[in-house]
Amino acid sequence: LAGGIGVFVYVTQKDRHPGTQLPYDPAKKTIVILGSGWGATSLLKTLDTSEYNVVIISPKNYFLFTPLLPSVAVGTLSPKAILQPTRYLARHKARAVTVIEAEAKEIDPFNKTVTFEDDTEIKGEVSHTTIPYDYLVHAVGAEVQTFGIPGVQEKACFMKELADAEIMQRRFKDCIESAAFPGQDDTEIDRLLHIVIVGGGPTGIEVSGEIHDFLEDDLKAWYPELAGRIRISLVEALPSVLPMFSKQLIEYTESTFKESKIDILTKTMVKEVKDKSVVLQMPDKSIKEVPCGMVVWAGGNKGRKITQDLMAKYPSVQTNRRGLSVDDHLRLAGADGSIFAIGDCTSTSYAPTAQVASQQGAYLARVFAQMAKKTTLEEKLNQMEGSIPTVTNAEAKDRLSSEIEATKKSIANIKFRPFYYSHQGSLAYIGSDKAIADLPFANGNIASAGVATFLFWRSAYLSTLFSLRNRTLVANDWIITKIFGRDLSR
Ligand code: FAD
Ligand code: NAD
Repeated sequence: LAGGIGVFVYVTQKDRHPGTQLPYDPAKKTIVILGSGWGATSLLKTLDTSEYNVVIISPKNYFLFTPLLPSVAVGTLSPKAILQPTRYLARHKARAVTVIEAEAKEIDPFNKTVTFEDDTEIKGEVSHTTIPYDYLVHAVGAEVQTFGIPGVQEKACFMKELADAEIMQRRFKDCIESAAFPGQDDTEIDRLLHIVIVGGGPTGIEVSGEIHDFLEDDLKAWYPELAGRIRISLVEALPSVLPMFSKQLIEYTESTFKESKIDILTKTMVKEVKDKSVVLQMPDKSIKEVPCGMVVWAGGNKGRKITQDLMAKYPSVQTNRRGLSVDDHLRLAGADGSIFAIGDCTSTSYAPTAQVASQQGAYLARVFAQMAKKTTLEEKLNQMEGSIPTVTNAEAKDRLSSEIEATKKSIANIKFRPFYYSHQGSLAYIGSDKAIADLPFANGNIASAGVATFLFWRSAYLSTLFSLRNRTLVANDWIITKIFGRDLSR
């Protein structure tokens, strides 16, 4: 056993220090990737960097596995378990990849440059710079859509970034400790223990389910006098939650939430978030102010400023408010073919999901490999054609001509196929060790729900995690939480 562990440690340590990586090569084209999320990471993972210089710029120096973010928000998983430092991935590449922790501020598509700013707290003398690119991959994702509703930005918690999950966890624990404060009156206890989640999309549903689990598994034991008074309300403007799932799964979720005492308020719109309440427009259009301790906002996506600014450079083409328009090869519409856009920052016919972004990233890696191959063949062809006049021997000339023809054929055979999305199904955790799944099968869909689906959900996400390190950390946290419960300290 000790020998086995030794080999394992040796292999992983060795892995962390690649022998030799090719250095930056000014003769190669430079790809600048903006972002380190699903799209960018999938691209980087698959990309053959021997043919390009690659620079990755992101304000986060890690990849965040978003599907398990709500589990971090209630302490089932530790933050580190779902993060993968971008440099870990870059260390395996054939040519050294430049990873820059910075926020891209401006793209100049006409001079082909990107300007970015140091995003860290402690800044050096230089914190703002501009670099050129040959190809740019815009994969900056999206930010939370607040629709400009008063109070949302300042007073609600979000569930998009790692920091959001940490803020939510802290506020939730604050609400419980304040409710437990000696002498707190009943009305105030009920207010503090009322959690309102806005948005009946998958994010809102998963957050509600996770909070419910925290309540059932841990809070009931540690705060028996308060746990029964905790209320979770899910507010959704549309007539139903989870519109992307099949009808029977929507009904299953609604009935599970009913059993879990999570109130679903459909056809109800949040109009304002106040310090101690949320203002709702009810289905009959009446306005109701509901006291609450915390609001979690999961109202959907909106384009980031850098994306809106890029759209503004092509006002006659980039008119879709949902995000960047791309052609079926993921090239930015209106641009000269040097900019690609993938993931949540685009407006395509697909839903903004990790599945789409990662397939788009992997597709682009193949496109870049084809472009490199084409360039190499074209250079070879130019060289051969240039050398024809210098060849006098008839036999050698024939050989060269047939080699030229073969190279031309190889170039013509390089076909850039359009991006094709293969939907692998939709999965969501709904709490109480239950999940729902809509899986494509033959010409239709299989809908599955319950505890077995929950085990499938867990194994599917465990295998989707990018590294063995993350899989180990997540599996370990699940076991620790099962045995010892969630950590209540703040
Ligand atoms: P992101 O993954 O958001 O990455 C964007 C990257 O760009 C980040 O690294 C960010 O730091 C960086 N960035 C931001 N601004 C700049 C800038 N100015 N310059 C440079 N870099 C910048 N989808 C599923 O398919 N299945 C799921 O189960 C699922 N669960 C989810 C759960 C939650 C809680 C959330 C919030 C989303 C979930 N999604 C899921 C959706 C999925 O996370 C997104 O569709 C996916 O992250 C989109 O990938 P992306 O690469 O476009 O953007
Ligand atoms: P969403 O856009 O899917 O849902 C947001 C919901 O908020 C909408 O139903 C909208 O009607 C509602 N809403 C907006 N403003 C409101 C208001 N003022 N009052 C009441 N309701 C309001 O957003 P999401 O759930 O964050 O998901 C974003 C994307 O990420 C989606 O494409 C989703 O498929 C994907 N995602 C997938 C999973 C999964 O597959 N398990 C999990 C999370 C997110």
